[in-house]
Amino acid sequence: MRIQEHLKLSGAAAVVALPWLKQEVWIPFVASIGIDVDHYLWHAVTYRTLSLRAAIRYFRRADPPQLAQQRLFHQPVFLGTLFFVAAWTRSRLLWLILAGFVFHVGLDAIHVTQMRRLKRTLSEQAGHMCPECGQFCDTLQLHTVSYARNVVDRYNVAHFVVLCGDCHARAHG
Ligand SMILES: [Zn+2]
Ligand SMILES: [Zn+2]
Repeated sequence: MRIQEHLKLSGAAAVVALPWLKQEVWIPFVASIGIDVDHYLWHAVTYRTLSLRAAIRYFRRADPPQLAQQRLFHQPVFLGTLFFVAAWTRSRLLWLILAGFVFHVGLDAIHVTQMRRLKRTLSEQAGHMCPECGQFCDTLQLHTVSYARNVVDRYNVAHFVVLCGDCHARAHG
């Protein structure tokens, strides 16, 4: 899920949680966005550059490799450890950070499930032929044509298309 979408949804959750968390509401909010810094850190270490631009370009490619080490803070092991440390130290701050992280990872899980479903449906509809070049392709890639402004409409099939690897790379220019 894109950062802007996380911002929107975390913002909405923060508004809902405001009556309970009051002035502490910014802690889970910042955590739920900040967790993605692991992507940047991975890129910085792997490509030896601190450029945020280069990192964004890397992950906006047609079909960037999905590696566990890009998502260190998203891993169950990391979250589980944080859980135990929070329980051990009874730190309210850690609990709030963990809440933000879990909210983010939950949204990512929904996103991945929806994208898989769309890819399967559209690939079957296309008969595994790239609609752009007509080439038969075992594993077509899902490409987002447009982003719905309304969250409810985000995973509407009308916003997506499946393409072969070449056409997908071309679509991302
Ligand atoms: Zn194609
Ligand atoms: Zn794409």
